[in-house]
Amino acid sequence: MNAWTRTRTTCPYCGVGCGVLADVEAAGCGTPAVHIKGDPEHPANFGRLCSKGSALAETLSLDDRLLHPSVDGQMTSWDRAIETVAVRFRETIAAHGPGAVAMYVSGQMLTEDYYVANKFMKGFIGTANIDTNSRLCMSSSVAGHKRAFGTDTVPGVYEDLELADLVVLVGSNLAWCHPVLYQRLAAAREERGTKVVVIDPRATATCDIADLHLALEPGSDIALFNGLLAHLQATGRIDQEYVARATNGWENTIDAATALTFDDVVAQTGLGSDALACFFELFATTQRVLTVYSQGVNQSSAGTDKVNAIINCHLATGRIGRPGMGPFSVTGQPNAMGGREVGGLANMLAAHMELEDSAHRRIVSKFWGVSSVPDRSGLKAVDLFNAIAEGRIKAVWIMATNPVDSLPDADAVRAALAQCPFVVVSDITARTDTAELADVLLPSTAWGEKDGTVTNSERRISRQRSFLYPPGQSRPDWWQICRVADRMGFVDAFRYAGPHEIFAEHAALTGAGNDGTRDLDISAHASISRQDYNALEPFQWGPRATDAETNGRFFADGKFFTSDKRANLVPVRYRPPASAVDREFPLVLNTGRIRDQWHTMTRTAKTPKLLTHVAEPFVEVHPLDAAEYGLEPAGLGRVRSRFGSMIARVSVSERQRRGSIFVPMHWTDQHATAARVGAVVAPNTDPISGQPESKYGAVSIEAFNAAWYGFAVTCVAPPLATYEYAARARAGIGYRLEFAGRAPVIAWPDIAADLLTRPGAASERQILSYCDEARGQHRFAAFAGGECIGLLYVAREPVPVSRSWAIDQLGAVVAPRERRRLLAGRPSKDVPDQGAIVCACFSVGANEIVRAVVEGGCRTTAEVGQCLGAGTNCGSCRSEIGRLVNEHRFETAV
Ligand code: SF4
Repeated sequence: MNAWTRTRTTCPYCGVGCGVLADVEAAGCGTPAVHIKGDPEHPANFGRLCSKGSALAETLSLDDRLLHPSVDGQMTSWDRAIETVAVRFRETIAAHGPGAVAMYVSGQMLTEDYYVANKFMKGFIGTANIDTNSRLCMSSSVAGHKRAFGTDTVPGVYEDLELADLVVLVGSNLAWCHPVLYQRLAAAREERGTKVVVIDPRATATCDIADLHLALEPGSDIALFNGLLAHLQATGRIDQEYVARATNGWENTIDAATALTFDDVVAQTGLGSDALACFFELFATTQRVLTVYSQGVNQSSAGTDKVNAIINCHLATGRIGRPGMGPFSVTGQPNAMGGREVGGLANMLAAHMELEDSAHRRIVSKFWGVSSVPDRSGLKAVDLFNAIAEGRIKAVWIMATNPVDSLPDADAVRAALAQCPFVVVSDITARTDTAELADVLLPSTAWGEKDGTVTNSERRISRQRSFLYPPGQSRPDWWQICRVADRMGFVDAFRYAGPHEIFAEHAALTGAGNDGTRDLDISAHASISRQDYNALEPFQWGPRATDAETNGRFFADGKFFTSDKRANLVPVRYRPPASAVDREFPLVLNTGRIRDQWHTMTRTAKTPKLLTHVAEPFVEVHPLDAAEYGLEPAGLGRVRSRFGSMIARVSVSERQRRGSIFVPMHWTDQHATAARVGAVVAPNTDPISGQPESKYGAVSIEAFNAAWYGFAVTCVAPPLATYEYAARARAGIGYRLEFAGRAPVIAWPDIAADLLTRPGAASERQILSYCDEARGQHRFAAFAGGECIGLLYVAREPVPVSRSWAIDQLGAVVAPRERRRLLAGRPSKDVPDQGAIVCACFSVGANEIVRAVVEGGCRTTAEVGQCLGAGTNCGSCRSEIGRLVNEHRFETAV
């Protein structure tokens, strides 16, 4: 029996930062087996993992991996690739100045990578033109924190979710986007009756534990929180002593808030007056209130003001820095916080210092041994790519991110990169929509192979440890930057024996010139050895966690990081979103994440398990809008804006607000032909934070009336590009393909012959078919070696075939007399249809859950778990199980 080794590491997906135990089999040669489970000792998750974390082991395969450097499409050595980057950067700087080069990096990077990238650009290249995809995620929170607190400090800790009596979730679908925090909150609610209010235009999965859901008019959050502040004032709930002692700006702030009457707030938010009054009174009368917010607040052209509108209510009541209370920004990415700590944004310096503060610049330049660092902020993400389009930036290095899909006005971003003279992309994936435009492609190490630290949303620094050998020629991101820096002549400053030395340097810088005026100080680790770094336990920076009063929270003492130590109340006024709906574009576009996918799917789409919940891009539409715009459930819809268009499957749902549609952010040209929502999103940004308004765009929608619709399961990856609409996903032992087109197709047998195959199967393959030209129906079933190797169904309407059943047929041995029944596209009577998969961990479908409720008498989520196992592992599906239970509990079997 092979030995297993255990590595304690951290999940690479969201900002919860869950601890992970990776058990690796010492298998000799070949790919080792890896088992993943939650780390019961990690304080972020105490052993829990969500569906994405639980499936990490299934995303480690080397298919799709970028394993060798290449220059101009030709595989090459590291030496030549590094030399090419260094020479082109040097030539560009010599000809056009340092501002003509840029880096665009990522909250996926480890702190050590991030630190070196910023040192390279701001310290040695001499430009602050380095920005990060965290700009798209939480830069409004950074700006709001800085305005209120004088620094970018998250005051609270996760334990506050369990200590609060009221948790207000604003623009945060915690159930899908931070599932382990949702589980912690749901458990606290169960145990101690925590009240939960969800403020979100959509009835998201998080609403399943809400005592009150306020489906406000998109973008009207400032009116809501100004109304709340006015109510707190009117009902005598302002902590006058705290406001006088610890804040500035009260008069102007309350003037701005009371400029609206209650009726104005009702009108601007579109909420019922009873619901609004109920929320105001709940907040007013509950001391322990925690307000959790994320992208629904940040991704707005008024995102910074929204953040301050929330913080104002906490400062005015003195509800900050103590157990169970405070504003709490939860970050989307695993290391958005680490990036903030090392100055990852174009307007920040390392160690929470400011580019535009001369004292801070002196500290950093002295520390790095350079004559100066830039005194002006660099270009923020959207402006940075505009500068590329305009030819002002002529060389860009993109690391661990996919801006051709994730940035707004994404077609313009693609065009900008296509004409940029020099594009370097460091990634783990060989084919991404951005990598396709690279002059130089550099293979990076992936999760499981790289070593460093990440910081989660509660300021907890944890180690990500390697437990697999880097495959091929892949190298860590920090190593790549150091080699280029070395080749450009910055030799000594980038000579590190490993990430522990980078971490030590970063830690030392947090203490440089820091006499308590800066929140971040981890300089106790400035001399950390490799051994101690390897053994580093998760720790939270900030006030000592052993202090019973603060227990890791900032601002319990009412002292802030402004020049007079007082917090700033910031007067904010509601302003409408930058885009306005009109006759041509009458609907509001809202974008966001789904439960089981991460960003542009380069990792999560590698496992079929995470594609059972949602396998296809979709647009969620209210039933009345669906009727108005001629959209059929499960049909296709084309979404258009002034910037671009996309096609997705129509999902009709009352959870969607009328007048708004929702589209997930994940699909790219690698997985579908026309589903990049970034192409539709307007490049409007917050004037302070520069964060794009991804939650509000003006769009239209129309039915994409295809002449035919196809569905196939195949053993080989089906091509996408030939179809007007196509979406490909891994499924079972192969792939599933949804596709459609308007032009008639006559060669279905040829298409079936191309699609329904398996390597080496051609000589023994048998394809059965059924064709009814008059009704437009074509069905094919292919077999080889007695097994089903593919099915294809075509119809004039969306194909009514059970997807889960069809996927199960792939690779199944089917007796010759049974084969024709597969052409019917239906399970036989003795094989019940699972329905869409709800529980990805145990592959339990919606129909099975409904049967357990209606026929099996299950009345709670827990009883469904006992009966089917569903929801008993990661728990990410519990809210959906709960919804099915509630919808069907009063039905009886007939
Ligand atoms: Fe990973 Fe899920 Fe934990 Fe986020 S909640 S860190 S995705 S396991």
